[in-house]
Amino acid sequence: MPSYIVRQNDNTWMPSTANLSPHLKNIVHEKVTSQIGVDPYNAEPLHYELEGLWSYNKLKSGYRIIYAICGDCRKKKAMTMNNCSNCKEVTDNSVVLWVFGSHDVYEDLKRARKKAWEKLVKQRRHDRRR
Ligand SMILES: [Zn+2]
Repeated sequence: MPSYIVRQNDNTWMPSTANLSPHLKNIVHEKVTSQIGVDPYNAEPLHYELEGLWSYNKLKSGYRIIYAICGDCRKKKAMTMNNCSNCKEVTDNSVVLWVFGSHDVYEDLKRARKKAWEKLVKQRRHDRRR
């Protein structure tokens, strides 16, 4: 039984999985339920621009499932970065699925998050000066 509550970030997860073949959809569903939903920490933590996100890459096809664990969003103050919907309200064992894709997905994500990252760095510098 999954011990984590897996949700989708509708703005990013739905478009990234919309055009998958039924076969690939099944694989993703299977990994999400039997792996990520059970132990989301059995994956690769991402850094720098993608800090706060996790990458599950144990798929034969070389694809990755990128997600956030909301208990960590809060602990690591990555909420601004991750911008998961309802991050403040959900339980610590909530996992939010971000995107599914090949290795290129990192670059796309980095570009998308660069602005949020710059804003956060500026904010942290500002906070430190106080
Ligand atoms: Zn979150």
